Amino acid sequence: MFDLNTRILVVDDMNTMRKIVIKACREIGFSNFVEAPDGAIAWERLSNSKDEIGLVISDWNMPNSTGLELLKNVRTDDGMKAMPFILLTAESEVVQVKEALEAGVDNYIVKPFTTDILKRKLQDTYKKVSA
Ligand SMILES: [Mg+2]
Repeated sequence: MFDLNTRILVVDDMNTMRKIVIKACREIGFSNFVEAPDGAIAWERLSNSKDEIGLVISDWNMPNSTGLELLKNVRTDDGMKAMPFILLTAESEVVQVKEALEAGVDNYIVKPFTTDILKRKLQDTYKKVSA
């Protein structure tokens, strides 16, 4: 599992959803978070403190810059391309998930989700990125 001190970047245009993600992460034991309301601001946060953020949990549908665009930015940046990245999506359409997998997402969670689902996804993602 990820070190519980891992700093998690939580990206969602809905403040309520960011709080839900953070609450679930806190229940799992994490306590270090950075928030961003869209992919563009998230990218700024990653670029300004790339050594401190160790995991990204990002919504898909957001104004300005989507989660998919953020993912593509991360995966094409030499310093950040191995960043663990989980996409949150309300859309269960196979085509969106396929697009995210092709762009190199480590995992995805369909909203709404439980703390147990998030924990399992985090464990799976850790196994995948540390393999
Ligand atoms: Mg959204």
